[in-house]
Amino acid sequence: MFTADCLNINEKGRLTIGGLDTVALAGEYGTPLYVMDETQIRQNCRRYTQALERCYDGRGMVLYASKALSCKELCRIAAQENLGLDVVSAGELHTALQAGFPAERIYFHGNNKTPEEIRFALRENVGQIVADNLAELQTLSEEARAIGRSRVKILLRIKPGIDAHTHDFIRTGQIDSKFGFALETGEAMRAVELALRAERLDLVGLHCHIGSQIFEVDPFVLAAEVMLGFFAEIKARFGTELTQLNLGGGMGIPYDEHDEARPYEAYLEHAVAAIRESCARLGLRLPTLLLEPGRSIPGPAGITLYTVGAVKEIPGVRTYVTVDGGMGDNPRYMMYGAKYKALCANRAGEEASETVTIAGRYCESGDLIQEFTPLQPVAPGDVLAVLSTGAYNYSMSSNYNRVPRPPIVMVKEGESRVIVRGETLEDMCRNDCLRQG
Ligand SMILES: *Cc1c(COP(=O)(O)O)cnc(C)c1O
Repeated sequence: MFTADCLNINEKGRLTIGGLDTVALAGEYGTPLYVMDETQIRQNCRRYTQALERCYDGRGMVLYASKALSCKELCRIAAQENLGLDVVSAGELHTALQAGFPAERIYFHGNNKTPEEIRFALRENVGQIVADNLAELQTLSEEARAIGRSRVKILLRIKPGIDAHTHDFIRTGQIDSKFGFALETGEAMRAVELALRAERLDLVGLHCHIGSQIFEVDPFVLAAEVMLGFFAEIKARFGTELTQLNLGGGMGIPYDEHDEARPYEAYLEHAVAAIRESCARLGLRLPTLLLEPGRSIPGPAGITLYTVGAVKEIPGVRTYVTVDGGMGDNPRYMMYGAKYKALCANRAGEEASETVTIAGRYCESGDLIQEFTPLQPVAPGDVLAVLSTGAYNYSMSSNYNRVPRPPIVMVKEGESRVIVRGETLEDMCRNDCLRQG
């Protein structure tokens, strides 16, 4: 019935997370409220690190893609779990450094890093930069020279031409993406040549990221094969054997009971088998393997609690259940129709006998969390829980309508603590400048 091990129902019939009563949490901290379970987050990290250890003798690193949820506490947990970290902006990099994340395990991504961001990353000695385009290779060389760095380790982001977004994933040769270098056009090979020739750059490997919320294993296997094929072409052409293969993130998580939670080991097992086979066939050494899970680290470990306000039944049309949050804390249904499971936290054990549309409090008709979704009968004052909101919710939140962002509360071993404070009304105008006089 639930999307994560950390969720359950107690003797009062209420939803619990990490053993704590969600109705009590809503009472203590107010709503809307993001709640996360630390044990679940750590378990999600360990599934990857243990799988890498078991399937590939630990020859690699699991990087947490921090865009899924960037805050100091998540960085601290990822560091403790021996993960590396992906950042895509100065803000995410700053957050990681403030949390004491070891710079050498940070990878700097992004399709349009500014020269200032690149300088910041080089000064802080981040482990590697994942270069996206030719202009960036140029900027990287210039910034490395400017600060006297002799060898900047880089990866190149490659478009392997695999579209894993459709249900039946396809090898499209797709080059219409703003991210990375295309293989088919020869652009990727040109970038390799430039990177190998660049004085201050040290090209160590290649990166690809084929999509998100992927449940099939085959796209990852195909990506590994395509990438290693390119490793072999590079070796034949330049005599250089790259040592790192980064297969990106994108592993799917359950958003409701219809999504089957796939053990992450399965992705790795199959990808590793393909890597071993390809390397043997192509005469390559086994590369260091990097994985970049984002969603699947915090996603299932988080829920959002709301208080139900007005319930509007429009006969013959639909019933709107309005909550005290919405697109400001979770824009994902509005943006791309993302699926979520909701339940009434104070009647979690009852049958979801109604079909409702959950609407937010923001001044947009499209401000919906889910449409025509099953729910227990609810009334104003009930607590509504939306599951699997740990990733891409807080990180995509906004202050539309000047509504303060909710806090994030972390639950662990029967205790709860705030890890990101909720914003105040004062925060809503803290950057406003009033003309004097
Ligand atoms: C978004 C992204 C990830 C993480 O993707 P998930 O679907 O959250 O696992 C990893 N790597 C890159 C380059 C990304 O853009």
